[in-house]
Parts: sequence; C-alpha cells; structure tokens
Amino acid sequence: MQAGMQSQPTITPSAAARVPRMPTTSNASPEAFELRGVSKRYGAVPALDDVSLRFPAGSNTALIGSSGSGKSTLLRVLLGLEWPDSGEIWVDGAMLAPTQVLALRRRVGYVIQEGGLFPHLTALGNLALLPHHLGWNRDRIRQRAEELAALTHLPPGALERYPAELSGGQRQRVALMRGLMLNPDALLLDEPLGALDPIVRHELQDELKAIFDQLGKTVIVVTHDMAEAAWFADRLVLMRHGKVVQDGRLDDLCRRPADPFVTRFVQAQRTLRGVSP
Ligand code: ADP
Ligand code: MG
Repeated sequence: MQAGMQSQPTITPSAAARVPRMPTTSNASPEAFELRGVSKRYGAVPALDDVSLRFPAGSNTALIGSSGSGKSTLLRVLLGLEWPDSGEIWVDGAMLAPTQVLALRRRVGYVIQEGGLFPHLTALGNLALLPHHLGWNRDRIRQRAEELAALTHLPPGALERYPAELSGGQRQRVALMRGLMLNPDALLLDEPLGALDPIVRHELQDELKAIFDQLGKTVIVVTHDMAEAAWFADRLVLMRHGKVVQDGRLDDLCRRPADPFVTRFVQAQRTLRGVSP
C-alpha cells in the first residue's frame, strides 16, 4: 500500500471534512452493534455507566477518551468477553445471549494492543489456531494467510517466523491478519497501534485506513489519539468515567463541545502545526 503517501490530519475542524464517509446501511437494516443502557462496574469503579450507542453495519467509529474511561470495557461487552451488570447488547438486530457468544467471536475480529500473539507459535501458527479448530485444512489456512499477508503488506517469509523474530509493526500486522482470518463482518480494534514508534505508526495508520475502506466492514477502533481517530473514522465517541461525553464528528467536538471536558481533551492533543522543521 502507498504507505506514508497520504497526509494525515492535524487537530483542526476542517480535518473531518477530508475523511471520506463510509457507506452505511439503510434505516431498515439492523445495527451491527447496539448498547442499550449498559452499565458495568468493577467494585466501586463504573467502567460503563448507562451507555447507549448504535453502530450501523459498515460504519467506522473511533472511541476516544483518557485511560480508564471505559473504552476497552465497551469493546469487551460487545464481544461477550464481559457481561454488563445491567442493560442489553444487541448484535445484528438480536439481543446477545450467552449461548451466542462463541459464534459471535467468529464473526467479529478483535485486535488488541501488542497483538496478543502466542510467542511459542510462528505467525502462521498463530493465524491457524482458530481456523484449524474449525476444521480448515492446511492448504486453505496457508492460502488465506498469504492473501492477508498481501493485504497487510507482511513479507511472505514472515509467516514462518516467531513473534520475537518480527518487528513491532510486523507483529501488529499479524495480529490484524489473525482478526481477519475468518473474514469477519466486523473489526473491533483496541489501541491497535499504541505500541508502535511514530514512523511505523504513521505508516500503519495509512494502511489500516485503506484496509477499512477496501473491506467495508463495521469497524470500531479505540485510540486515545484524536488525529488518529479522525483519520480512521468520521464519527468520534468521546468517553469519560464510563459515560459518553460526546458522539459526533471532529468538527462537532471542536466547535460545538458538549461539555468543557471535550474542549480540555481536544486542547490537550498537541500538534506541530506552525512549527517548521
Ligand atoms: P480504557 O480502555 O478506557 O483505558 P477500561 O475499560 O480498561 O478503560 O477500564 C475502565 C475502568 O474499569 C478503569 O477504571 C479500570 O481500572 C477498570 N477495570 C477494567 N477492567 C477491569 C477488571 N478486569 N478488573 C477491575 N477493574 C477493571
Ligand atoms: Mg483500554
């Protein structure tokens, strides 16, 4: 992919206008994901506090907010990895029940920071785990892995290497490939680029964005970087203390902040605008 060829937005309201819109389904289609009044506490800590959100099929959304604001918990309840204390999760128009969680995890790619790869398995071994469990033969697994290596620009030889023998960017590509192996309808990414150095991160931002646009899946990506959020999605959901503070475009957050915290969050994001090298 044309890594590094696209220019990325700084934190300006006009940046939102440069982010292409993703196709969305008609009003008649069920939402890919929906939270209805979802709360989840850990002891005294409200990780999610009465959150209601809809994610239409094919839409791209970025969840932003400070550390501890509930972003990861939100993804985890959508996947059935955590169960809300109250409220409902709906997926493709049906309320999520514990019996559907295994099937759901096969339809949703989940990618976490650092990738979460098994160190004792090669990249291909990591990619093969779930498909092998589902009865795919070796040829089919390798063919799919090679397709995804091309999509994510992983050098083919890297498939035979162990995670410790890959660069951080390559490990993150393998983690993304693992999330895509079963061709899921949706991708939930939890700070997928958080562990990378700025140059690799910039390159992978371009590549991920191109992959999102090309595949047209429902994408929810967690990041605490607003420029990255606006690059990936035209809809930003800002969370604080387990609540949604604002749900809108970058322009809305910058020009029509719902709360003084939104302005503080926006202003806390440094940019190098005006600084010449
Ligand atoms: P974020 O991803 O925005 O950093 P999290 O969803 O991970 O936030 O966490 C929200 C809050 O819930 C934090 O205060 C965190 O410490 C707490 N929390 C999350 N997971 C657990 C857990 N398994 N046990 C106890 N507390 C948790
Ligand atoms: Mg998190």
